[in-house]
Amino acid sequence: MAGTATFAEIIDGDVFKYYAGCEWKKSSSGKSVPIINPTTGKTHFKVQACTQEEVDWIIESAKTAQKSWAKTPLWKRAELLHKAAAILKEHKAPIAECLVKEIAKPAKDAVKEVVRSGDLVSYCAEEGVRILGEGKFLVSDSFPGNERTKYCLTSKIPLGVVLAIPPFNYPVNLAVSKIGPALIAGNSLVLKPPTQGAVAALHMVHCFHLAGFPKGVISCVTGKGSEIGDFLTMHPGVNCISFTGGDTGIAISKKAGMIPLQMELGGKDACIVLEDADLDLAAANIVKGGFSYSGQRCTAVKVVLVMESVEWLRKSILKLQN
Ligand code: NAP
Repeated sequence: MAGTATFAEIIDGDVFKYYAGCEWKKSSSGKSVPIINPTTGKTHFKVQACTQEEVDWIIESAKTAQKSWAKTPLWKRAELLHKAAAILKEHKAPIAECLVKEIAKPAKDAVKEVVRSGDLVSYCAEEGVRILGEGKFLVSDSFPGNERTKYCLTSKIPLGVVLAIPPFNYPVNLAVSKIGPALIAGNSLVLKPPTQGAVAALHMVHCFHLAGFPKGVISCVTGKGSEIGDFLTMHPGVNCISFTGGDTGIAISKKAGMIPLQMELGGKDACIVLEDADLDLAAANIVKGGFSYSGQRCTAVKVVLVMESVEWLRKSILKLQN
């Protein structure tokens, strides 16, 4: 089992720490969650099994931090995000290595995921400055009976504490796709990474730490979703949940309170082959789309609809699947 980390401060013995209040901490539970390397079937990493009290503390500190983070100038929030993106890309190799060990992602794809994540964080900073920098000016004479006697200004404001739960197949990329927009908009963010992929996610969070995000603005709580998940998603201090995954999302939406939910759930991606298609190209892309990364991408081709005249293609695909 790996007993070292690229960032020495994020590990204690052979267990990775969780991140709260700008510090790397050991859980008082004294328990850890093993992360199995899918290639060897053996425990490769361990993360802290956080307690409900630790979750309470994290959410409380996120709540406090959010108030001043929302007042931090937009350009400053963007600057920190750009800095985190650069640090993330600088550490693409060790983070990618975690992805290989935790979720058996092919090495080249793992590096791509980290680089793409850095780019996405920068993109959020760029777009955030544009979108959040805009407001609207409304006048009151747009329907009968009203004169132009009132004026109204609107602008976007943060929600508060955002809980981010990404899935195992893109534990870094689908974490930053929640972290970037939430932070640039002035929210604080609590990340619950998937167990398989948690160590890559902890490394990624450390890049935000190194960038200098203030205490409590970003935190990361680890533990099995089945054990700590309900407590997190039903926590009264959470103001928004951004989730990507499977049917778990349906259960969360039933349990969470009256808060905004962003749910990206399982895809049913169809490939439609028309009669005039380049069949060699279609066949090659269907196989690639269906089976690359062992078919674990949410966008993997799952259904192929072919016109009757290209029935042979359907048969070939079925043969490949069996
Ligand atoms: P999952 O089993 O639904 O788990 C997703 C996340 O939820 C994990 O972080 C998991 O943590 C956590 N979780 C489990 N139980 C929970 C609970 N009771 N409360 C709160 N969180 C809980 O999905 P997955 O197997 O990781 O990912 C594959 C699925 O994601 C597929 O269905 C795929 O189609 C979908 N996906 C969708 C998109 C999209 O953009 N629409 C993109 C990628 C993937 P633990 O790991 O600790 O259990």
